[in-house]
Amino acid sequence: MPYDLTTLAARADENAQENSSRSLVQPIYQSTVYAFSDLDDLERAMSGESGAAFYYRNGTPNRSTLERAIAALEGTEDAVATSSGMSAILAGFLAVLQAGDHVLADARVYGGTYALLTEELPRLGIQVGWTDVSDLNAVEAAWQPNTRLLHLESLTNPLLTVADVPRLAELAHARGGLVSVDNTFASPAVFRPAVHGADLVSHSLAKYLNGHATAMGGVLAGSRELMALARTRAVRLGGTISGFDAWLTVQGLKTLGLRMRAHSGNAQAVADVLENHPRVRRVHFPGLSSHPQFKLAADLFPHGFGGMMSLEVEDAPGFVKRLQGKIPLAPSLADVATTLSYPWGTSHRALPEARRLEQGITPDLLRLSVGIEDVGDLLGDLEAALGE
Ligand SMILES: *Cc1c(COP(=O)(O)O)cnc(C)c1O
Repeated sequence: MPYDLTTLAARADENAQENSSRSLVQPIYQSTVYAFSDLDDLERAMSGESGAAFYYRNGTPNRSTLERAIAALEGTEDAVATSSGMSAILAGFLAVLQAGDHVLADARVYGGTYALLTEELPRLGIQVGWTDVSDLNAVEAAWQPNTRLLHLESLTNPLLTVADVPRLAELAHARGGLVSVDNTFASPAVFRPAVHGADLVSHSLAKYLNGHATAMGGVLAGSRELMALARTRAVRLGGTISGFDAWLTVQGLKTLGLRMRAHSGNAQAVADVLENHPRVRRVHFPGLSSHPQFKLAADLFPHGFGGMMSLEVEDAPGFVKRLQGKIPLAPSLADVATTLSYPWGTSHRALPEARRLEQGITPDLLRLSVGIEDVGDLLGDLEAALGE
C-alpha cells in the first residue's frame, strides 16, 4: 500500500476537483440524469467505457468518490456502495449464490443478516447452514459439497468474538468456496479482511465509516469481477445510496484514521479500568488478556481493537438510568460520542431466549460503543453510574 490508511482516508475527496467549479470538497450532485453531447458520448457512458454518470440509480459522482475511497481503504480493486448495510450484504450474496447453492454462516451474525439468511434466501432455493467460525473443525464438518460461500463478521456483536479470517479463507478456498466478511465492527483502520484473503467485505456505512450517526448506506468491496456482479444486482434491486448520504460518508471518512485511534485508545483504557471494578462482573473486549482470543486479536489487529465492548454489570437498569444526560441508550453504534445499547432487548430480541443465553447474551449485558471523548471524563461518568 503506497500510503498509510490515515492519509488515504484524509484524501477521500481527492477526486472532487474533477468538477468544473474546482471546489475543494466535491459538491452534492442532486440531479437524477446527465446530458450527453452526441450519441458517441452517450454510448461511451452506457457501455461503461467513460465511467460517466447517466442515471442516478446506476451511479452518481458522489457514489463513485465513496466507492473509490473505500476500495483504497480496504485494499480491494473495487467497491459498490448501496442504500444500507443490508442491501450491500444481499448484493454480495446474490452476486455469488444461486438456487441449489449452500451458504454457511456464523451463528453470531447481525440480526438483520440472520433474518435474511433464514427467511429470504431459502425462498430463492439457496440452502443455509450455521456454524461456529471460532472452531475450524466445526466449519470443516459443516462444509457441504455445494457450499459456495462462508459468511461471518470479523468482530461479532455483542461479545466481540474475533474471526481468524486468514485460516478461514484458506479453508474455504481449498474447498472451492468464497468468504464474505462483515467488517462493520472493526472498520478498515482496525482490520482489512481482503488483505487477509476474504473475497467480499461489507460495511454498514451508518457505523464507523460515517462515524457521526448521520448517514445511511452500505458498501461491498472486492475484486473487479465480483464487484461487477454485485453492482448489477444492486442496480437491478434498486439499492441506491443517495448522493447526500454518500457525501456525508466521504466527509466522515476523512477522519477515520484519527477517530479509530481515539476509539481504540479510549476503549482499551475503559476496558482495563472496568474489568477491575467490583460492580462489573465481566468485560468482553478483544484487547484484554482475559478475552479467549486475545492472542489472535493482537496478531490480526496490530493498531488497536476498535471501540466496541460489552459489560455484564450489577443492576443494568439502574446503571443505564444513572448515565442519562451523559451516555445515551441508543440501539446503534460507532458515533463519535459514547452510546450504550441493550442486546437482549434490541439487536438480539428476535432470537429465541434459549439461543440468546447459549450465546452468552444475558439480561445483564450492556454494549458500550466507546466514543472519542476525553478518557478521564468518560471514566468519571461510567464510574459514577456504577456506584461505589
Ligand atoms: C448495522 C449493521 C448491519 C446492517 O447495516 P444497515 O446499514 O443497518 O442496513 C450489518 N452488520 C452489522 C455488523 C451491523 O452493525
